[in-house]
Amino acid sequence: MYICDDVKFIMELLSKNGFKVYLVGGFIRDELMGKSCEDIDIATSALPEQTEKILTENSVKVIETGIKHGTVTAVINHTPYEITTFRKDGDYKDCRRPESVDFVTDIKEDLSRRDFTINAMAYNSEDGYIDLFGGREDLKNKIIRTVGNPDERFSEDALRIMRALRFASVLGFTIEENTKDAILRNSEKLKNIASERIFTELTKMLVGDYVFRILDEYREVIGVIIPELIPTFNCEQNNPWHIYNVYGHIIHSVAFAPKDKILRLAMFLHDIGKPQVKTTDENHRDHFKTHAAVGAEIAKTVLKRFKVSSEIYDKVTTLIYYHQSIENVDAIRVKRWLSKLGEDYTRSLFQMRAADLMAHNPEKVGEEAEKLAERQRELEEIISSGEAVKRSDLAVDGNDLIALGYRGREIGEKLNEILNLVVDNKIENNKDTIIRFMKGSEL
Ligand code: ATP
Ligand code: MG
Repeated sequence: MYICDDVKFIMELLSKNGFKVYLVGGFIRDELMGKSCEDIDIATSALPEQTEKILTENSVKVIETGIKHGTVTAVINHTPYEITTFRKDGDYKDCRRPESVDFVTDIKEDLSRRDFTINAMAYNSEDGYIDLFGGREDLKNKIIRTVGNPDERFSEDALRIMRALRFASVLGFTIEENTKDAILRNSEKLKNIASERIFTELTKMLVGDYVFRILDEYREVIGVIIPELIPTFNCEQNNPWHIYNVYGHIIHSVAFAPKDKILRLAMFLHDIGKPQVKTTDENHRDHFKTHAAVGAEIAKTVLKRFKVSSEIYDKVTTLIYYHQSIENVDAIRVKRWLSKLGEDYTRSLFQMRAADLMAHNPEKVGEEAEKLAERQRELEEIISSGEAVKRSDLAVDGNDLIALGYRGREIGEKLNEILNLVVDNKIENNKDTIIRFMKGSEL
């Protein structure tokens, strides 16, 4: 196994001082899969204070923040390495993280508290691989299986349910049957888990290559973490454009969207408003007028509960709010959207629409999809041409307007009006032209 010099150095220091030391967890899993892993976890029999002492005596910089939980962070060449004392978790309360951590001297106990067999292996050059639970076999067969009894393990820490779904979605593994049954039996326990931790796993799951299958098979879990999606599970859409019900459409569109956290999250929530606004006409066709605005409001509640950053909140809810406004490809005025939402949001909105279309009736959307692709090309051309789409691109600024006699709020309003004219190619973005135009008009 390739181990970089800095990690070797840390391991040799601890081992020279009589302690056991192993590489563990995700690093071993990824290494056995032939993937590189940035995140290196080192486990040792040395107590945190002992680890710290040995490292500092050898001029290694140490960050103490995790010491209470048994983790010392060594920093070599600006790279942090987490070194955790072998441990056995104490009592679990309310299906959450343990209150106390017992340090143990045996790697076996440390490995038994880990979540899945593929994450419960260790390695060092002296002992080779330590694989007590068939992790290598499960890796080979692409199986996610808890270490020990799955009901007990999910009761101890229900976040493991989300981690199982996340690993299955990212790695394309199958969740072993007993583990799967236990997930479905214990999913309600996720209600005891901090929403931020669920959200972290949810977004990692959403950007997985195999997300469709997971969202399809584990809707019970989805219903626990986002109950607002439950009404979509059986919401039919009788309408020639659709071949799936609302949830089916949602999860196909997620899988079609680029593997970006925000886009996939926006896709996952984009039609959450449909059940609330559904109407059926005399021809038995279903309609979902205003579902985007209603959906954006529901998404706000969901995202607040997850305590997401304001960047995620703003972007996801804006994308949902506008997703229906660009349904009519013929009416899309690319520059106007660019001017209204900016480069990043507009590009995302169009990407979202493309994924949304792909999850419609394939017999109906071919032409629309082509037109949308044309609009997307247009968007990139406009962006690279540097044409004026925002106020700061204008050939005039606030000072020019002050010189013309405008004051206070008027200045911003006039600049917006000029921008709209420029964006619509009604006047040229040239200082003289704009000033002449303003002097000679009511603008
Ligand atoms: P990645 O870093 O790619 O997200 P990982 O497996 O390294 O995956 P981490 O969250 O970094 O995941 O955790 C490191 C290791 O700690 C895991 O491989 C696993 O052995 C153990 N672990 C993490 N979370 C839990 C948990 N909730 N219950 C039991 N063991 C866990
Ligand atoms: Mg990790």
